[in-house]
Amino acid sequence: PQPRASPGARPGRPILIALDPGHGGEDPGAIGKRGTREKDVVLQIAHRLKKLIDAQPNMRAYLTRDRDYFVPLNVRVQKARRVQADLFISIHADAWIKPSARGSSVWALSQNGATSSAARWLAKKENDADLIGGVNLGAHNAQVAKVLLDLSTGAQINDSIRVGTQVLGEIGKINQLHKNRIERAGFAVLKAPDIPSILIETAFISNPQEEQLLRTAAHQQRIAGAVFSGIQDYFSAQPALARRG
Ligand SMILES: [Zn+2]
Repeated sequence: PQPRASPGARPGRPILIALDPGHGGEDPGAIGKRGTREKDVVLQIAHRLKKLIDAQPNMRAYLTRDRDYFVPLNVRVQKARRVQADLFISIHADAWIKPSARGSSVWALSQNGATSSAARWLAKKENDADLIGGVNLGAHNAQVAKVLLDLSTGAQINDSIRVGTQVLGEIGKINQLHKNRIERAGFAVLKAPDIPSILIETAFISNPQEEQLLRTAAHQQRIAGAVFSGIQDYFSAQPALARRG
């Protein structure tokens, strides 16, 4: 099989960025003291970010949900893979028991999360006819398939940390950071083995000042602008992708 190389190997196609506003529908996400719902502010930020991306001649954004409805976590990843997204960005707002907790953070998939995810991908018969990282797993024995999937996921994590670092740097210019480095976890939405994926906690909705900021158009726009700059930094550091379109 033909391995799917970097996304830049598909000339003429715009860079496609999947934006994933967290929660939605019956799942409001975290709720601030003033009643601000995470699902609403992250959708607004995602729409603002989509506008910035779509204004670029060589970039397009795709939303895993564009309105207030529920989308299961695995479906969010499936949607991004179906459109062959080059990047997956999940947008959230944090919450903690102590109202003093504040600041933005950016997450990438942890190795443990990747390993358990790889095991599950391999175990799932539904993936038989599927291409993971351009490799048809059905054509190989289980041992080879596992090695190929591990390689693909390892590359995904490296790229995710790279883009996450750029985004964190840009967000640090407009908001306090909760953590100065990329954090790692086994979040389900980060588990596409072949799409660099990050999750952004834009701010703490449980912090009264940050809740207030999240409600304002100006701050939502600042967050969208910072994430957009981080995305641009990431792609411009990769000549094959920057040249595209
Ligand atoms: Zn959330």
